[in-house]
Amino acid sequence: MAVEPSSDPEGMVFDVDTFAVHDGPGIRMAVYLKGCPLSCKWCHSPESQESAPELILIPDRCVMCGECAAACPEGAHRLTGGEHQILRSRCTACGACVEQCQQGALAVKGHRVPASLVVARAARMKPFFDRSGGGVTLTGGEPTLQVDFAEAVLRDCGARGIHTAMETSGACSWERLERLMRHVDLLIYDLKLLDDEQHRHWTGATNEQVLDNASRLCDRNVEFRLALIPGITDARQNLQAVLSFLRDIGSTRLAVLPYNPSAGAKYEWLGRPYELDHSTEGTGDLEAVLRMGRSMGVSITVV
Ligand code: SF4
Ligand code: SF4
Repeated sequence: MAVEPSSDPEGMVFDVDTFAVHDGPGIRMAVYLKGCPLSCKWCHSPESQESAPELILIPDRCVMCGECAAACPEGAHRLTGGEHQILRSRCTACGACVEQCQQGALAVKGHRVPASLVVARAARMKPFFDRSGGGVTLTGGEPTLQVDFAEAVLRDCGARGIHTAMETSGACSWERLERLMRHVDLLIYDLKLLDDEQHRHWTGATNEQVLDNASRLCDRNVEFRLALIPGITDARQNLQAVLSFLRDIGSTRLAVLPYNPSAGAKYEWLGRPYELDHSTEGTGDLEAVLRMGRSMGVSITVV
């Protein structure tokens, strides 16, 4: 017997920001969904990449009291030689240790939330959205991975007159994207690298689906975006290729995000290395990027 989809699907969410100003117009409630098919080496939300909940440890806050180790049923905390290590293969993200930490050094990132709860919260914020021209944005992670949840949130927010936006990497099937597009007022579509070999190297996946989906979007309400990663996505060759691609698919606008040099901090919280150089300078000459856009007939805005 076929299983009916839930009328109130749950999503795996790792954060909700009720004062987001970079994820679409106005003041927005940004809902961060966990799980992503890409693993960009510069990702500023590395806790978004895994689909399952994860424990984070903020070493600067830890006073090595050992309360967490005493509470953990799996023996996943090791405090030796002035160092606090999480044995991640043992951790089930149960959260027992988090409750014992008085310093706020521990947190579980990722919890299940029903779509109706997100919509109810958004509905309470509608007066703020209306005043600022804002709304709700689903981002991540990759919202298309949780298509039932995303669809329910977007559809039900739309039905309440709340502006809806979704940010995507485009690394998904066209069917999934199109299904969600029906309920989205604005799609924010992140491009990265046009050279497939480079794309595989830096994001861990091919760009075939990303470019194919993008080329089908030109007549929709879509904002193409490019995060400027020094020497990688902002390299002259890639910038030119991105602008040419946009022109070819009939789009004449691009939003760019300057590099955030603090992006590497969260990797330590997850016990993962940050492969980019922490001292990497941000893109120095945004004006040169804007000039290139003008010379190629693409209007660039800085987000
Ligand atoms: S309970 Fe908190 S402060 Fe104490 S050792 Fe664990 S993480 Fe550190
Ligand atoms: S979340 Fe649970 S399993 Fe993981 S370290 Fe804490 S107490 Fe142990």
